[in-house]
Amino acid sequence: MKAKANIVIIGGGIVGTSLAYHLACLGIKDIVVLEKDYLAAGSTGRCGAGVRQQWGLKMNCILAKESIAEFEKLSEMIPTDYDLEFKQKGYMMLAYDRNMANQYKKNVQLQRTLGIEVDYLSPLEAKAIVPHLNTEGMVGATFCGKDGHLNPFTTTLTYAIGAKRLGAEIYKGTEVLDMKLEKGKVSKVITNKGEIDTGLVINAAGPFSKNIAKMAGVDIPVYSERHQILVTQPIKQIQDPMVISLKHGFYCQQTPHGSFIMGFGDPNELKGTDTTSTWNFLEEMAEKVLPVLPPLKNLKVVRQWAGSYNMTPDAQPILGNSEDVENFYMAVGFSGHGFMIAPAVAKAISETIVGKKPTVDISMLRLKRFEAGNLIKEPSVV
Ligand code: FAD
Repeated sequence: MKAKANIVIIGGGIVGTSLAYHLACLGIKDIVVLEKDYLAAGSTGRCGAGVRQQWGLKMNCILAKESIAEFEKLSEMIPTDYDLEFKQKGYMMLAYDRNMANQYKKNVQLQRTLGIEVDYLSPLEAKAIVPHLNTEGMVGATFCGKDGHLNPFTTTLTYAIGAKRLGAEIYKGTEVLDMKLEKGKVSKVITNKGEIDTGLVINAAGPFSKNIAKMAGVDIPVYSERHQILVTQPIKQIQDPMVISLKHGFYCQQTPHGSFIMGFGDPNELKGTDTTSTWNFLEEMAEKVLPVLPPLKNLKVVRQWAGSYNMTPDAQPILGNSEDVENFYMAVGFSGHGFMIAPAVAKAISETIVGKKPTVDISMLRLKRFEAGNLIKEPSVV
């Protein structure tokens, strides 16, 4: 392992690898990614990997739009043997009451001003896109055909390959144990494989980000929360878009292989990094999804698992450097939407680090917003 690096990125998920790639694209040499396990071993490899531009906050719409634009050209930007399995068959978000419908109509207006091709649909129009949708109780839906999902493993590996081709080094099985600070800056990262002197550290450790920040003497208001998910046997394609119901709290998509992947947000889920899955989840999942998508009752579940959301008080990430330890950067706290915004976030942080004006203004996501009480209000979090 190298004894010295310009930048050390901690975490080999979608955030760490896309950061390494974007920093390398901007000409930074001597980038090192440290991953305690294997690439995508954390939340990234456990996620639904859905990507949607249908957000209520302008910045989130732009981050997702820019990221999807990058996913669309990723195989050309970084040619590899991997199939990204990028399926752009849309996201449909269901509304069940007037308040939700009004919020969705507002979202659509905003999204359209940003060039996102999205429509507000009547229940009948929604059913024309998802024929097995039970529209009982629904008042409307929004639909964007360019949203979709990718394979989180091949996407992460692709960024890692791109970064390596540009000179970055990625050390797997390398756990960060501590850091040393000199004159208020991180000067050394201590791992189970040795020590690295460095000028800048980026915390991209997902569910473990609080612990990593602590090593740099920075306290961040994040916690991790278990989220469960399942995959069914594959069947012939019957559902093009990802269907999301914020009322029921679930998301459900059919992959290009024909299997269905689904999960839901449970406010009472276990806090911490435990990723065991439970029998209750299967029952509750069925109770939530079947009234809305009844034919799925015949599907057999082949596997269930769990991962962690790294949460902040407003369910929006913390991006940028610490005020107190200025060479310690953070790209953490992505809640349930880190996969879909990672490329644009990585680009913006990389641009900030090299002193360029970031393509997307992410300044509202700085750590100090919590002290100042400027919590972000995003109405479309699952
Ligand atoms: P991770 O992928 O967790 O990567 C962090 C890495 O850091 C890990 O590999 C870990 O091993 C490593 N690490 C930790 N500590 C150390 C250490 N001390 N030393 C070295 N390495 C260390 N997002 C979406 O956009 N769309 C979705 O549809 C979606 N669905 C989801 C469904 C579920 C069930 C879950 C759990 C999450 C979902 N998410 C989704 C959220 C998404 O998975 C995360 O926001 C995203 O993957 C975060 O990426 P990351 O690289 O920051 O974290």
